[in-house]
Amino acid sequence: MRGLVFHGNRDLRVEQVADPAILAPTDAIVRVTMAAICGSDLHVLNAGEAFGFPAGSRLGHEFIGVVEEVGADVRTVAPGDAVLSAAGVSCGQCVYCTEGKRYACTRMSMFGWAPRLWQHGGAVEGGQSQFARVPLADATLYAVPEALAEPSRRATLLPLVDVMSTGWHGLVSGDAGPGCDVVVIGDGAVGLSAVHGARAMGANAIICLGHHEDRLSLALGLGATHTLTTRDPDEIRQLVREATDGHGAHVVVDSVSNTSSMEGAHAAVRAGGTIACLGMDHFMGQTPSVNWFDQFTRNITITGGLIPMGHYVHGLLDLAVAGKLDPSPILTTRLALDDAPDGYRMMAERADGVVKVALEFE
Ligand SMILES: [Zn+2]
Ligand SMILES: [Zn+2]
Repeated sequence: MRGLVFHGNRDLRVEQVADPAILAPTDAIVRVTMAAICGSDLHVLNAGEAFGFPAGSRLGHEFIGVVEEVGADVRTVAPGDAVLSAAGVSCGQCVYCTEGKRYACTRMSMFGWAPRLWQHGGAVEGGQSQFARVPLADATLYAVPEALAEPSRRATLLPLVDVMSTGWHGLVSGDAGPGCDVVVIGDGAVGLSAVHGARAMGANAIICLGHHEDRLSLALGLGATHTLTTRDPDEIRQLVREATDGHGAHVVVDSVSNTSSMEGAHAAVRAGGTIACLGMDHFMGQTPSVNWFDQFTRNITITGGLIPMGHYVHGLLDLAVAGKLDPSPILTTRLALDDAPDGYRMMAERADGVVKVALEFE
């Protein structure tokens, strides 16, 4: 089969690789129909060597497809089923999985990212390939509901694997709900997903801070009630108070999470509110400083973090079936697998009009 392979920093190639095989009775093989390039994949593109990625690693943790083959112990999916895969593998049975904290599953691993951090579940190859081996398939794969089974709905489904789940995780971590005021910092795929999720939750004001006109107009289409382009904390404080009830946002989802965005988050959040951090700059050694004085004197909760793999998928599928959620506009760009290195380049250069690239396999 063909797959996207990491050969070194800024050296990705689509080439012939070995077909995956069932290695354990709980494995499934999925024929990939659509895969996405993630902002976090760009960290591998730029610094995979420092993360310990060996040449030959196959990348990609966002994919959907059709089950091709299952091991003897797989119960919940069968060959021919259309499925979403969670971005990472989890067992569904350990203490963390049963508490909904799949990010800490004792057998957790992440497709296409195993060399960096998540090795205790066993290395799993990425899904930017024609086929993927999915370990612990009963807990890691999710059957696509009949109402979303048409191939034309793949772009609705694919964002649920990671970015939509991640944006939702920020909202849930921040205790967002109907009638609350939400600020989303960042107009990338995760920020736009948080905007869209806030609308599905019935939030009141949904204010998106970003710096790209095309993305902010996407944000308006996905549910933002206001967009802001300033980086100045005083201006953010004033504009957010004007757009809310004068007190600021109940929840700030910071999809960037660097020192500057955190200043904006503190300016936007109301006393007693929550800042949910979803950004990954710390992966690149840039740890944001936190305003602990503001945290203490105004009782700000700082939360967020890695998504519990797959935990939100059923709920998000229900919302999609009900017509309350359709993040497909976030997949701005469709390419064939062979053009995946171009897709990485377009996303890394923030090419005009490109938010997120989807790879189509047929
Ligand atoms: Zn991702
Ligand atoms: Zn588990």
